[in-house]
Amino acid sequence: MKAVTIIGGGLSGLCLGIGLRHRGVPVRVIEAGTYPRHKVCGEFLSGKGREVLAMLGIEASLSGAREASDVTFSLGASTTAVRALPSPALCISRWKMDAALAEMFTSLGGELITSQRASTEAGEGIVRATGRRPQAEEGGWRLFGLKAHAHGITLGAGLEMHFTPRGYVGLCAVEDGRVNVCGLFRSREPVPALARDWRRWLGGEPGSALHARLAEARWDDASFSSVAALGLTPRRALLSEETSIGDAVTMIPPVTGNGMSMACESAADAIEPLAAWSAGASSWDEARLTLSRRFDAAFSSRLRTAAILQRVVVHPAARWVLFQSVKLVPALQRLLFQMTR
Ligand SMILES: Cc1cc2nc3c(=O)[nH]c(=O)nc-3n(C[C@H](O)[C@H](O)[C@H](O)COP(=O)(O)OP(=O)(O)OC[C@H]3O[C@@H](n4cnc5c(N)ncnc54)[C@H](O)[C@@H]3O)c2cc1C
Repeated sequence: MKAVTIIGGGLSGLCLGIGLRHRGVPVRVIEAGTYPRHKVCGEFLSGKGREVLAMLGIEASLSGAREASDVTFSLGASTTAVRALPSPALCISRWKMDAALAEMFTSLGGELITSQRASTEAGEGIVRATGRRPQAEEGGWRLFGLKAHAHGITLGAGLEMHFTPRGYVGLCAVEDGRVNVCGLFRSREPVPALARDWRRWLGGEPGSALHARLAEARWDDASFSSVAALGLTPRRALLSEETSIGDAVTMIPPVTGNGMSMACESAADAIEPLAAWSAGASSWDEARLTLSRRFDAAFSSRLRTAAILQRVVVHPAARWVLFQSVKLVPALQRLLFQMTR
């Protein structure tokens, strides 16, 4: 069988590697970093991605993972009622999850090379799973993400989503009594002192529900991570010459909590065409086109809805209207949830 090389050992790359190893395909994953490592992520995995983790035998190995089965939203001091999520989400740190996936991949006979940044040039047998594509600005705004774990916080729901004047912050309990605090923010100007000021960004405005919730937080400084140059404009897989999965194709706005699911789903969709290529049953171009078509068919609609939602939640007046509507009409929250999954 021909070997597949996956560039990037994040969620999508490792899920694909594990899926291909289950089919006996020789696989090498090249990862720029090491494991375990903290990563900017809401750590709230919701949607069909959970089925992929179960199908690949991964979910059972994620010891300590928590489930979030309900949600509240807040804007300033105002908070919605606690409402059930249509389906429970899995909450686990990327520190733990990515390391568990890497271990499973190697135990299945996969070759994992860490601390090596590979060329991302397209070529036969090469899959790009390198995560988001840096984009300096979007519509004149710089988008960046911040995350840190904290102890000493009791949440009012499995997921708390707080909207702030500068973006939004999600809170969910992960393993070992930790709460993950993760936000997406935007600024017209460069924000140079994030390594110093991140608590202020994540902590919310005085008087807000977020600020009150985090008042007693004991931060794990070592878990802080940040990412800048985020671009959230949807892109289509078929318009690229590369064979890509996950955020390497396009990133769904984090407000949906669906990026990890897309990473898992796109990896699962890629297993069969790549296994066929490996066995000599199809050409590389056929495999690439099949998985790109599947990506666009599966995600175009949710990416469109998510792009509109993102525009709404960062616009002060539109955000206020949406928040009041969700507060009054529970069915709207359910509809938005379903349309972004
Ligand atoms: C602020 C924020 C909050 C989020 N919250 C959530 C959430 O709550 N729920 C959710 O589902 N999703 C969330 N996401 C999105 C989620 O984190 C991503 O969609 C997901 O990590 C994508 O997985 P991936 O495998 O495509 O990329 P990644 O997980 O980013 O993995 C890419 C890997 O490739 C490696 N790499 C990159 N370039 C190279 C190279 N040249 N050579 C070798 N290795 C390379 C990187 O080191 C990295 O390990 C959030 C994102 C942000 C920014």
